[in-house]
Amino acid sequence: MTTLARSVLLRMSKSRWLARAVTSRRFVRKAAKRFMPGETLANALDAAQELARARLGTVLTQLGENLASQGEADAVRDHYLDVFDQVGQRGLNAHVSVKPTQLGLDFSQTRCAERLEALAARSEAVGTFLWLDMEDSGYVDRTLNLYRGLRARHEKVGIALQAYLRRTPADLKALLSARPTVRLVKGAYAEPARVAFPRKRDTDQAFFDLATELLGAAANGQTLPIIGTHDMNLIKRINAKAAELGVRNGGYEIHMLYGIRMAEQKSLAVQGHTVKTLISYGERWFPWYMRRLAERPANVWFVVRSMLPG
Ligand SMILES: Cc1cc2nc3c(=O)[nH]c(=O)nc-3n(C[C@H](O)[C@H](O)[C@H](O)COP(=O)(O)OP(=O)(O)OC[C@H]3O[C@@H](n4cnc5c(N)ncnc54)[C@H](O)[C@@H]3O)c2cc1C
Repeated sequence: MTTLARSVLLRMSKSRWLARAVTSRRFVRKAAKRFMPGETLANALDAAQELARARLGTVLTQLGENLASQGEADAVRDHYLDVFDQVGQRGLNAHVSVKPTQLGLDFSQTRCAERLEALAARSEAVGTFLWLDMEDSGYVDRTLNLYRGLRARHEKVGIALQAYLRRTPADLKALLSARPTVRLVKGAYAEPARVAFPRKRDTDQAFFDLATELLGAAANGQTLPIIGTHDMNLIKRINAKAAELGVRNGGYEIHMLYGIRMAEQKSLAVQGHTVKTLISYGERWFPWYMRRLAERPANVWFVVRSMLPG
């Protein structure tokens, strides 16, 4: 049932018609607020400042994917250049994470790479960090290529790898010689069974195995692993594995999404872990929001509840 609900919600996430029809509805906007502090960059920066008081670093990302023109991709680049400047001005411990399709990957890999280069340079000048999100499986090769190009010139750049993909152990192995920074996540898209594990328990096991591989590499100073999950059971096992391999708390980080398991994020930080909260903002939140519902179909009840007055 959960698998069916997940696949229906993921299919809905791709509907432009539905996006247009529902995003202006007040109750949907209210429900979406559970996962984002607001639609503007100022909302996100204010939230980052607030979270810093609870010892949480942040990663900022503007929502939007699969654009309509190169001009839109230039505008996204310019927006993120401004984000870096504002992070610098406010003195925030905030990274930035971008989707390659937001920077025009569907139109030209070369121009997408140029835009990423501009962002990596500005990020370096401000002293922060640039992340590449991983999108659906059709983009993995190109995203890895973009990352290799960036990593050859910049130290503080990272990439997300998805544990549900059957190919990821081989991708990680090939990437390790580049001394990458990897954010390991389970994977949020609808993928066919030949590409990704259909069963959650296989993905969970793959996540633990990949995390173990990353921690082994971290113990040799080859990488900084980022554990991107809200799965507290996995985090517990990974913390134990890190201790066993002699990787200190600062030798890996735990990243979660804004609005999910906030109490646990704060308590992990208090225990001495480096924790960052990924804050999404922007007006084009529909596909992203539907993926959050698909991760936990019980969230649909939050939407229903927010239709009620009060
Ligand atoms: C920092 C970060 C960056 C990410 N970047 C990417 C990326 O680049 N590419 C990509 O494909 N995916 C990305 N994701 C999403 C990821 O792939 C998963 O879809 C998402 O994290 C849910 O899986 P989970 O690891 O939390 O485990 P799950 O087993 O799905 O969840 C564990 C528990 O966490 C809680 N939980 C999880 N999701 C929700 C939710 N939506 N609402 C309420 N509670 C929830 C529930 O209590 C659940 O039982 C990212 C996730 C994080 C945390």
